[in-house]
Amino acid sequence: MALLEIESVLLTEEEIAARVRELGEQITQDYKHLAVEVGEAPNILAVGVLKGVVPFYADLCRSIKLPLAFDFISVSSYGQATSSSGTVRILKDLDVPLENYHVLMIEDIIDTGLTLAYLKEYILRRNPRSFKIAALLDKPDRREVPIAADYNGFVIPDAFVVGYGLDCKECCRNLPHIAVVREV
Ligand code: 5GP
Repeated sequence: MALLEIESVLLTEEEIAARVRELGEQITQDYKHLAVEVGEAPNILAVGVLKGVVPFYADLCRSIKLPLAFDFISVSSYGQATSSSGTVRILKDLDVPLENYHVLMIEDIIDTGLTLAYLKEYILRRNPRSFKIAALLDKPDRREVPIAADYNGFVIPDAFVVGYGLDCKECCRNLPHIAVVREV
């Protein structure tokens, strides 16, 4: 059975936390004119793309100082592979209709862009009041379709990374930092 070796730490826990706070402040500024009062039903829906997004989603949403509703979607695009198959399949759909919401879709990483391009079209077909994307990591060198996040944490080189939600065959999701790994 293959073992994983951490090649290098790309982003420390502290660097991630600082950048996520900045993104939260920026999103708060941009959305505050749209938000309802605390106690009313939120009209901004944070849609997390499971599972890799979980730590980023939790930290980012807590940095956004506005009422948010939560929902999640789960897609399979890679299976066990470390590069995109290009095939996107919905494993868990959204729970709520989108017409009443400003949708902020939150993703862990944009690689080829195929997953996000598919999800963007899928969500826009449901007529949200507005649609934006927040992604923690971006690997622009790997892009196959032209798509970009409205809020991006870090641009990173073309390497396979794990940690802070990102896995390799389900391993390493709970690392607090982001690391480049290789199989040994
Ligand atoms: P895309 O469709 O943009 O090629 O891939 C997006 C998905 O691929 C991400 O949500 C993530 O699950 C996975 N992915 C892409 N690059 C990496 C990486 O470097 N590490 C890990 N763990 N997953 C990645």
